[in-house]
Amino acid sequence: MQADTQSKILVSACLMGHAVRYDGRAKPLHHPAIARWRAEGRLVTICPEMSAGMTVPRPPAEIAEAASGEEVLAGKGRVVELTGADVTEEFLRAAKNAVALARQTGCHYALLIDGSPSCGSGFIYDGTFSGRKQAGNGMTAAALKAAGVEVFSDREIELLIERIAQ
Ligand code: SF4
Repeated sequence: MQADTQSKILVSACLMGHAVRYDGRAKPLHHPAIARWRAEGRLVTICPEMSAGMTVPRPPAEIAEAASGEEVLAGKGRVVELTGADVTEEFLRAAKNAVALARQTGCHYALLIDGSPSCGSGFIYDGTFSGRKQAGNGMTAAALKAAGVEVFSDREIELLIERIAQ
């Protein structure tokens, strides 16, 4: 297989240093590949939750009752804030916006921060707001995977580098 020098990479805005997380902070990922991909014009940055109109800061949110992103996308779960507010609609819109942007811009890959109810792909939290993790996808990661985008978490950047080099 030839190296993929064309496809773009959808990337979580907070990983790129944008202060868009619920707590008003960023979580920048410092890696030489990020600088290289940026210089090559391959990175397409999105904060799905902000694209859906959510504000910064905002209350933390989790997928309720240990459901997965796939289940919420299928109408079998919901996303709630710590305040109890139901933000399922916003998270659905966030996932749709990310898929639409990936399609418009030719992103075959995504590099998303883990643990988020939107961007998580290795783990998410179980909905109890007690810090308990479970394996699974957030809603944006699940929607991107369903759309054929190959999703890598921030901890898997080396795998993405290898994948692109194949
Ligand atoms: Fe970061 Fe994704 Fe949460 Fe936006 S939705 S703050 S990009 S983890």
